[in-house]
Parts: sequence; C-alpha cells; structure tokens
Amino acid sequence: MTENKIEKCKGHRLCERTVFDSELCLLHLPSDHKNALNCDDYDQLLIDEIKQTPMRDDGRFALHWEKLNFPIDHVLFEHFKFDEVRDRLEKSWINISYSNIQNIRVGSYAIQTLVLSHSTIHGNTIFPVATIERLIMDSSKFLGKFHCACSSNLFDARNAIFEDEFSFSSTISGLANFTNCRFKKACLFHGSRSLVFGDDDDEFKIVGFDNAIFESSAQVLFQDIDLRKASFESVSLVGVRFYNANFYQKSLNRNGLYNEVNFLQKFKSNGADNKENNVKHYNHLMHEYRQLRMAMENIKDFDNSHDFYVGEMESRKNRKWNFILEIYRFSSCYGTKYIRAFLILIVLFVIHFILTILLSANLQIPNLFSSQDSIFSWKSLGDAMLHSLSTVTLQRFNLIENLSFCQRTLDAFFRIIFPIQAAMFILALRNMTKR
Ligand SMILES: [Zn+2]
Repeated sequence: MTENKIEKCKGHRLCERTVFDSELCLLHLPSDHKNALNCDDYDQLLIDEIKQTPMRDDGRFALHWEKLNFPIDHVLFEHFKFDEVRDRLEKSWINISYSNIQNIRVGSYAIQTLVLSHSTIHGNTIFPVATIERLIMDSSKFLGKFHCACSSNLFDARNAIFEDEFSFSSTISGLANFTNCRFKKACLFHGSRSLVFGDDDDEFKIVGFDNAIFESSAQVLFQDIDLRKASFESVSLVGVRFYNANFYQKSLNRNGLYNEVNFLQKFKSNGADNKENNVKHYNHLMHEYRQLRMAMENIKDFDNSHDFYVGEMESRKNRKWNFILEIYRFSSCYGTKYIRAFLILIVLFVIHFILTILLSANLQIPNLFSSQDSIFSWKSLGDAMLHSLSTVTLQRFNLIENLSFCQRTLDAFFRIIFPIQAAMFILALRNMTKR
C-alpha cells in the first residue's frame, strides 16, 4: 500500500479522503481498477463516513459522494447493510451526482434527500415503499429497469433517460417533474387515484410531463391515477393508454387540463395579458388537448375524448375570436351535447310559434288565420302551430295566403337557422352514439 496523505484526491474537488492510488481515493478508483474494493468493503467505507459526518446547523448530515465509482455488482443501500446508520440516514442529505452506480435497491430506509443527478445507473433501480423526502435524479441515465414506489415530497427526474422498463407508483405530495424525460420502453404510472400526485387542496402540487418522450407509446399506461394537476405540453400521446385517470376540473365542470385552469386563474388575476403570449399559450393548449383526445379515442373513452375535444375547440376559439366557433359552441357545445342542441331546437320552434301568433294579432292580417276567430282559439293556435311546423321543416302550405312582410321575413330567417340547429343536433347525437 502506497499511501500519500499530502496529495489531494482528483476524483472530485470536495473529496478529502486519503489518496490511495493514481491520485484517487478508494471510493473514486474506477471499478475495473486492480485495487478496487469489493462491495462489502466499499459499503463499510460509506457507513463509516455516515457515522463520522458531523451534524450541520440545520440538523442534517451532508454527505458528498459526488463522482463515485461503485464496484461491479454493487447494490446501493441494500437491505440490512445500512441498519446501524438507519437513524442517521433519515436526517441525511446525500449527493451521489456524476457517479457510476451499479444497482440501486434501497432497503426499508428513510432518507431525507437523495441526489442522483447526472449519474449513470448501470443495473436496476428499485425504490421500495419507503420515505425519501426529496428524490432528485435530473439528467441521470437508467440503463436497467426502474421501479419507484416511495413516498416523496419532491421527485425531480428532469432530462432523465430510462432505457428499460419504467414503473412508478409513488405517492408524491409536492412536485413530480418528468419534464424532458425520455422513456424508451414500457412505462407504467400506477396509483390509487387520490394518492399519487397529491390531492386537490394544495394548488401548488403538480406533475409535469412537458416535452417528455414516450418512445414505446403503445406500452405506456396511466392507470388509477390523479392527473388533475398534470401538464403534458409538447408531448406526443398517440397510443398512450389512460385507464381510470382523473382529469376532472371543478372550475371547468368537465374533464380538462390543469394548464387551462391555471392559465384562466392567472388571466383573471392579471387582467388582460400580453396578446402574443396568449396566442402561444392557446396553441400549446390546443396541441395538448388534441393529443389527449386522440389517446382517448384510441381506447374508446368517449366521455373523456368529448371533453378534450371541447377543450381543444375552446383553446382555438380563445386564441382568435371566431364567429362560427361561437355558434358551434352555443348550439351544441362543439357537437358534444345533443340534449342542449335538442332543447335549442324546441326553443327555436316555440319562438317562431309565439311570434307568428303575435304577428297575426297585432298586425291584424285578415288572411293569416280565419278572421272571425280570436287569436287564442284552438283553431288559430292550431293554424299557427301548423304554419310554424311547415316553416321549420321547409314545407309550404297553401292554406295561408298573403303573408305579411314581417311574417315572411321571420319564416325566411327560421328556414335558415332551424335546419342548421337540426343538423347540430344530429351531429351531436351521432357523436354521442358512435362506438
Ligand atoms: Zn476521492
């Protein structure tokens, strides 16, 4: 053994361990180095460090394990091995960023903060049902399977790459960040609907999938999961399956996206916002809704797909005011509400019927109805009804002669709008019943 205590380890600038060989300490030696430690000895050094680290003012033990090279076949935090420092782990902030980690299989240990940023995990990664307050793994690369079921307040996996199967059933009470993540194989997000990603009381809880890439989208499943605070901006979701996913937004009274609710709230509090920003936002929202709608259509979830279609059209309408879309929305909620369309048909008919009676009475047109009758007689009401019916169904009865100008204008107007509304009703009915 050639120890040289004057030299500083080149493994990492914060490393103060004794240099062992090639200007590196034992923890920084490459795993294929002839003097590299075996797994048990390596763990013993880690345990010693945990034991010897003084407590910081904030009550934490800060462990600088940056740029470590773990031995081949090593398993990080394997069950039983860290039992003697279990209590200290609970208060530890452990930074294992920029490291070469072989496998992670955390026993039942609770850890305050675990940072794995920019590390490569060569084997499998398993976080069991345990508490890791803050789990940070941005820009890490997971070459093996990844399974996470721990409870966390913060789960940050921005820019991470998951090369193999991914499964996630964690309970995240704060922020879960999958922005820019790349999922290469099968992917499962599974929860107990109300547990995963927090509840609706705290407005800051959110799960972000913005710009995430699901390479095997046909093998991606979101099941029994609360996605009311999820964001899917610029994500391709075609082929992704959602079963029993909760998207219900109370303020919209339909299934919808958090980005829409959040923007509306901001918009309300800020007043008129920057116009350019709004157009950009609604473009993103439209894309997000379209992706979800297509995903829902794919699994024949028409309740959700209708609501997401409404969201898509609302975003299009809000991006730039459009008269046709306003009519489309009012008449049948973009072809999704056949009962509303039918009620409007009835209302239109009643309006025509009442106006016909009023016109015949006030303007005293003798030939409109039998002139001897009061306008409220059964016969005149029947005639008005028949006239309205023939108008809205585009028929012409010869029974009434010399219609007034007002009546003819009214009829012409209703001959246009009634069939349009009837078409809206048929469209909505067709959308509701298509399977
Ligand atoms: Zn070192």
